[in-house]
Amino acid sequence: MRKVVKFGGSSLASAEQFKKVGAIIRADKERKFVVPSAPGKRSSDDTKVTDMLYGCYDLAEQDKDFKKELKAIQERYQEIIDGLELKLSLEAEFKTIEKMFKEKAGTNYAASRGEYLNGIIMANYLGYEFIDAAEVILFDENGEFDSETTNQNLRRRLEGVEAAVIPGFYGAYADGRVKTFSRGGSDITGSIVARAIKANVYENWTDVSGFLITDPRIIYKPEGIETITYRELRELAYMGASVLHEDAIFPVRREGIPINIRNTNAPEDNGTWIVESTCQKPKYVITGIAGKKGFCAVNIEKDMMNSEIGFGRKVLQAFEENGISFEHVPSGIDTMTVFVHQDEFMHKEQQVVSAIHRLADPDSIDIEGDFALIAVVGRGMKSTRGTAGRIFSALAHANVNVKMIDQGSSELNIIIGVANADFEAAIKAIYDIFVLSQI
Ligand code: ASP
Repeated sequence: MRKVVKFGGSSLASAEQFKKVGAIIRADKERKFVVPSAPGKRSSDDTKVTDMLYGCYDLAEQDKDFKKELKAIQERYQEIIDGLELKLSLEAEFKTIEKMFKEKAGTNYAASRGEYLNGIIMANYLGYEFIDAAEVILFDENGEFDSETTNQNLRRRLEGVEAAVIPGFYGAYADGRVKTFSRGGSDITGSIVARAIKANVYENWTDVSGFLITDPRIIYKPEGIETITYRELRELAYMGASVLHEDAIFPVRREGIPINIRNTNAPEDNGTWIVESTCQKPKYVITGIAGKKGFCAVNIEKDMMNSEIGFGRKVLQAFEENGISFEHVPSGIDTMTVFVHQDEFMHKEQQVVSAIHRLADPDSIDIEGDFALIAVVGRGMKSTRGTAGRIFSALAHANVNVKMIDQGSSELNIIIGVANADFEAAIKAIYDIFVLSQI
């Protein structure tokens, strides 16, 4: 039985945090594969090392002096090394980095050094082998992650390896040039390693005890989620719930490996389990509530629309031609509505309107902005009658006008459109009815 453990930036921000991580790893002999992030913030007004690296490289690229900035980064690492009393020098590594910055090695290379150096320290601290992610995690020529080649590479490389540290966030093209994932991408690396070694669990250690039912900025101390399925999480993540990088689900999902989100500062908490499927009854009918503001509804009307074959396709083509992705398309008999992100749509709205006229010849088009979408997600909804009824009566009591309803055929979620101004009140009302009143 082997576990992959990934530690986020705040879990590795200082020597003190490293010691907590060391204790966690030593507490369980199955924790043999470690994926570290770069050192994060030590306090709320601190700067992440990744951001320091971006800033420093920016100067290098403009041929400005970046010595002071690079030194500040080196000091962050030295503080950790000293605090852990390690006999390790990163002097040569920093010489190489300085040289590579002068040669304009690229932003990806620059940002990846955060994880790379932290990986070296971690391996030294634990006495584990260090494996550079650039050797094993591959991107294709289009910059897309090459999952199958990586999986084979990594499987081969890790065969017979007892314990290793593999830095998160980056890999390389076939020619060796470093490429990073998007921000927060160490979560993906952890998932890739877990898949390759067929781990029995992927533990993702961060600074919260798992997922919360909803946003703590809206609800004071919301309850945590004990177990959530990959599919439920996808729905919530898409609507803005963030703890884990959304792409981190895919590699482990292929092998049915559960993810356990844990808190480095409270290792005794069970955290959240993310699983493929479970017979465990959810505590509440709903698993989570998430949402986003800033949508725009484009309402299109045409008499006899329902009998015109291809009408929907023509309307959506108008959005496609203008490079705008749509979120939801609820439709009536002679109307259809396309929900889009307002900031993306705003600058192109008139082009889209004229394209719809040209392609689909509607009777009228009406645009309404400042919408929020809220997703109420839960595997428990499928087998429970009256969920939608309870949501809408709660919203009515809270004086929230529902402008759109969309229930997927999976019955896993109900999406509700409300005015931006009603967003918080709507989430409160839904949380109250399902969690606080516990019926
Ligand atoms: N250090 C990178 C970031 O700040 C990647 C990560 O932490 O996962 O985005």
